[in-house]
Amino acid sequence: MDYWKTSLVCCSLICLMLTGCKESPFDGAKAMAETEALVGIVPRDAGGGGARRAAVMLDGKLKALGIKTTIDTFSEETPNGKMFFNNVLGRIPGKTKRLIVLVSHFDTKSGISKDFQGANDSGSSSGVLMELARVLQERGPYETEFLIAFVDGEECRTQYGPHDGLHGSRHLAKQIYDAGGAKMVEAVVVLDMVGDKDLNISIPQNSTRKLVKELFFAAHELGVRPQFRIGPGNILDDHVPFQIAGMPAVDVIDFDYGSASGKNDYWHTASDTLDKLSIKSLQTVGDVVLKMIENFQ
Ligand SMILES: [Zn+2]
Repeated sequence: MDYWKTSLVCCSLICLMLTGCKESPFDGAKAMAETEALVGIVPRDAGGGGARRAAVMLDGKLKALGIKTTIDTFSEETPNGKMFFNNVLGRIPGKTKRLIVLVSHFDTKSGISKDFQGANDSGSSSGVLMELARVLQERGPYETEFLIAFVDGEECRTQYGPHDGLHGSRHLAKQIYDAGGAKMVEAVVVLDMVGDKDLNISIPQNSTRKLVKELFFAAHELGVRPQFRIGPGNILDDHVPFQIAGMPAVDVIDFDYGSASGKNDYWHTASDTLDKLSIKSLQTVGDVVLKMIENFQ
């Protein structure tokens, strides 16, 4: 062992002894920096200039990691007439054609304010997804292929329905299904609202049970199982269109985001700002999802 290697080992040991921190390829600070970059574009309402700029930025960041990308632009009828959406898709090839799809929406709820950050909803999940993309690209190739999907138009304008909300995920799920790819999908992991300082992931009951078990097992392995539980009911989120198209899907969401437990008063309000998030929460979610993914290999 040469001097530099010895020094590295010593540094790791000191880190472990002093802080209890563990080596992780996922870097929560980088995930926060990615979150901040996206949240710098306000607002990101689907169909608006902000969402388009956000899509171009996310595409550029994936490309900079050496990932092959496409911006899939499509139009759909909505309560506000025909609107254009942009899904940003990156493919990380695997040794087989088995596929894991990782999803975060990047649009913000419309009509909140002209400088609405949407720091937790949708900044945090997009920051974690970009950092996961970096780690998977660097550590691969894995057995499975990965589809990194930043989807547009998750938020509804009026009320969720076939023409309002979940536009990007519904479009992508149909594309995968129509191409005959649904049977190759091992897991769809949707991230949404994962940055709250007071992290309590509450998995909606309409997530695919097998994947919930995999997620909880990964959390258990990393010693953070108490921060992951089953939520009180179903949630209509981006995981649902994939399930309808025959793919197993889990929604990793903390749907208790407010000034006190149960209030949820930061959600879809101007209070959804960066100061409500923590690197630690992004780190925890990134670590657990990475562990879950690697357990599939
Ligand atoms: Zn939302």
